Amino acid sequence: MKYIFVTGGVVSSLGKGLTAAALGTLLEHRGLKVALQKFDPYLNVDPGTMSPYQHGEVYVLDDGAETDLDLGHYERFTHTKLTRLNNLTSGQVYQTVLNNEREGKYLGKTVQVIPHVTDEIQNRIYLVGDITKADVLITEIGGTTGDIEGLPFLEAIREFAQDVGPHNAIFVHVTYVPFIKAAGELKTKPTQQSVAKLREIGIAPHIIACRCEYPLEREVRQKIALFCNVPYEAVIEAKDVDHSIYEMPLMLQRERLDELVCRQLHLDVPQADMRNWQEIIRKLIAPAHRVRIAVVGKYIELQDAYKSVYEAIIHGGIANDCGIQIEKVDAEQIERDGAERVLKGVGGILVPGGFGERGIEGKIAAARYARENKVPYLGLCLGMQIATIEFGRHVLGLNGAHSTEFQTNTPHPVIDLQDDQRSVRMMGGTMRLGAQPCQLVMGTKTQRLYNAFVVSERHRHRYEFNNSYRTQFEAAGFVFAGTTPDGRLVECIELKEHPFFCAVQFHPEFQSKPNAPHPLFRGFIAAVHEYLHRKPL
Ligand code: GLN
Repeated sequence: MKYIFVTGGVVSSLGKGLTAAALGTLLEHRGLKVALQKFDPYLNVDPGTMSPYQHGEVYVLDDGAETDLDLGHYERFTHTKLTRLNNLTSGQVYQTVLNNEREGKYLGKTVQVIPHVTDEIQNRIYLVGDITKADVLITEIGGTTGDIEGLPFLEAIREFAQDVGPHNAIFVHVTYVPFIKAAGELKTKPTQQSVAKLREIGIAPHIIACRCEYPLEREVRQKIALFCNVPYEAVIEAKDVDHSIYEMPLMLQRERLDELVCRQLHLDVPQADMRNWQEIIRKLIAPAHRVRIAVVGKYIELQDAYKSVYEAIIHGGIANDCGIQIEKVDAEQIERDGAERVLKGVGGILVPGGFGERGIEGKIAAARYARENKVPYLGLCLGMQIATIEFGRHVLGLNGAHSTEFQTNTPHPVIDLQDDQRSVRMMGGTMRLGAQPCQLVMGTKTQRLYNAFVVSERHRHRYEFNNSYRTQFEAAGFVFAGTTPDGRLVECIELKEHPFFCAVQFHPEFQSKPNAPHPLFRGFIAAVHEYLHRKPL
């Protein structure tokens, strides 16, 4: 097994995760089995309890793990199967070490960062290697070189590389090469200093991937090669991509990153044939059609809060040869200005998942606007609960209908806490999480889009449709298109008298890929196109 460690320097938000994922794409296209994992130095056990303001999206895996959003990139860019083992945080490491200590496993020793914490980190690398049986394991170290909390991880991978020996492990350092306008040139010093920081710890990077806004000229590359002690060709230009993150694998291939990696790891494999990926990019750059979609949320100003949702919409576009303009709409703006003013002219409305009361009335107004004006609507998790509240209030006349998440004493709790959530006291990792089967009802729009009767989708919620309202809703044209196989929990709803009004209690966005768009997103974009152009694609 070969190991690639991806570290980051100078600043955060460099796209290390994307670089790791795109390298994974290239190695897969060379016929290798690739696994990816992420180490996060923060002390939370997982990001599940963190606000999107702190962390961006929480990405949910099949096994119910709440993980870093970079794992979303790994799944979208490769075929790797991820489990909770693929995201290790300092919190988990310390939890294990402290439990071991209480159990007396350290046999009287003083428990220390080196070797006990670092051993625990290395154990995880071996474990993921064993389980995935991959040819190559790419491990991304979160944070920035120089952070105090990242040190145990760097020490652990240094020791690990030492153990497995040369040509079995390499270090790829992703840095930033800023352009200073006043000087009119790219500056290499921050890169030099962050590499110096790594070398202080005993890690000498084999490859330096330079994130930059302008091309890395020959002299700049030479300077980085000289000062950072790598061969000239190991200085990789990772310039901002023009159109889409899915250009990254092609860009890195042009820079021969995969060739270099294979040479350094003594992997004798054929070149990557990237034609399928090129076709995806073609559709993104020059689509046959264009549509505008509104995503109505409360973390609209954040790039990363709805990451997988935005990506899945784009995939739905790829499936229909449709370029997508995503209109990020703040639900509170709808509360202020009214749905008509904010949403007029959009081709489709999507309400994603969410927690907490802020912006809820704006989302309800958006769902109402979609229902009344026959604008295609896709609701995800909270987006399904919103659609339920809206229908209850305005079609069934259930005044004050609400979710008990937002109003405990509502006269009509159409959305209510799941029974087995009532006794929950610990907030971390206790929602209904991960892949669960959903049985679809024959002939519904949802079932026809999936072209299947039982599907598996990922969940992350505490509330559900209140079954005492089912008959009443159904009689008014609210279709229950999918439930858990025992029929108890409502998973999918749609509206009878509407060209496309579908909402689901799960998160289909977590299973969409550019080369395998999710059927619900494919169907949504097709409906949007039909709505705007009055004819099917
Ligand atoms: N807050 C809602 C619940 O807990 C919806 C969750 C979500 O959208 N992920 O059920």
